Amino acid sequence: MVSVEKKCFEGLKAIIRVDFNVPLDINSNVIDSSRIKAAKPTILKVINDGGSCILISHLGRPKKKEKRLSFINIIPEIEKVLNVRVKFAEEATGNVTKQIVEDLKPGEVLLLENLRFYPEEVKGDKNFAKKLASYADCYINDAFGTAHRAHASTTTMAGLFKNKKYSGLLLYNEVKAIKKVLKNGEKPVLAILGGAKVSSKITIIENILEKVDKIIIGGGMAFTFIKALGGSIGGSIFEENKMTLALSILKEAKKKQVKIYLPIDVLCSKEFSNTGSKKIFEINKIPPKWQGLDSGPESIKVFKEAIMSSKTILWNGPIGVFELESFSKGTISIGNYVAKSTKRGAFSLVGGGDSVAAVKKFNFENKVSYVSTGGGAMLESLEGKSLPGIEALSN
Ligand code: AMP
Repeated sequence: MVSVEKKCFEGLKAIIRVDFNVPLDINSNVIDSSRIKAAKPTILKVINDGGSCILISHLGRPKKKEKRLSFINIIPEIEKVLNVRVKFAEEATGNVTKQIVEDLKPGEVLLLENLRFYPEEVKGDKNFAKKLASYADCYINDAFGTAHRAHASTTTMAGLFKNKKYSGLLLYNEVKAIKKVLKNGEKPVLAILGGAKVSSKITIIENILEKVDKIIIGGGMAFTFIKALGGSIGGSIFEENKMTLALSILKEAKKKQVKIYLPIDVLCSKEFSNTGSKKIFEINKIPPKWQGLDSGPESIKVFKEAIMSSKTILWNGPIGVFELESFSKGTISIGNYVAKSTKRGAFSLVGGGDSVAAVKKFNFENKVSYVSTGGGAMLESLEGKSLPGIEALSN
């Protein structure tokens, strides 16, 4: 995989697969422009070199044309973030678009209409990919968030460019961060796994057992392990059909000498709300009707030691119901210690869904080494799967 950093784009038209799949309100205003910001360095690299950019992306999951999901609605926001004028082609392919592309001058940026308006995109259609590819001298993929999809713009197109394909800076940094944790992480390597369910994390656990020295298992998923070990978990969330698996994970970890940290105590309530009464119980002695919603102080103490003594940290999943203020303290403490450990020199990667939301909510974003932009793509990487978009760039 060759990074755009290694290439000068002077006089070249680069077609760049970006991830502009931004959240919109009902009036199609952009709620969060992080993804546009994340693509900015690669776009600027090309235009500062004296090249031009043809940007392609999807927005939402339309099956056909939908006014609400046209990129025309968000051009002003893209221009604001990039601080450059952005031309727009109302059709992703066709003669009009061909002419607009031909007229594109060095330093200019063009965005093509939402690729998901064309069913060929998700099918990975070769003819569609060829039409898009015909506009450009080279191909750049900077859409890590869709690298796990074998679509026309993410995978098929890369195959058409042979040695004229590059990874954008964002995609390159994401892949580097994952490698830094799972391939060449400085030891001890720690994974902090939280979230609601074991079932959604099993493949990750199985994959990282080979690669890490310690794992903290927190949040709702811990209760399946505690119950499987014979504890009383009251009304806490758990998955009956995953209890045997939980025990075999613990056995496997022991065999591989991976230390597992389970919670020791837990903050409980009888209600899933901020206002109900709260009480701390030992993790395996929760009375009926009480449910564990956040890690308790003794658990945090142990987790702290594990975090502060690690050189590489992966964090996936909150360790409590952080959306409710009353049960957010555990997740905030974890964020604090990960930030402290990072300051001391550890490498920390926060990736996959809700832990990213938590890190942003509690302002740890700039205090950890890397926050992944790719939910599904990051999860599949942590599961050890190879991503078609990345593979296609490397072949
Ligand atoms: P996941 O998408 O699997 O990472 O799960 C994230 C969700 O897990 C968040 O919405 C949290 O509120 C939830 N969660 C974390 N700890 C608990 C818990 N002890 N009980 C119920 N839900 C939890």
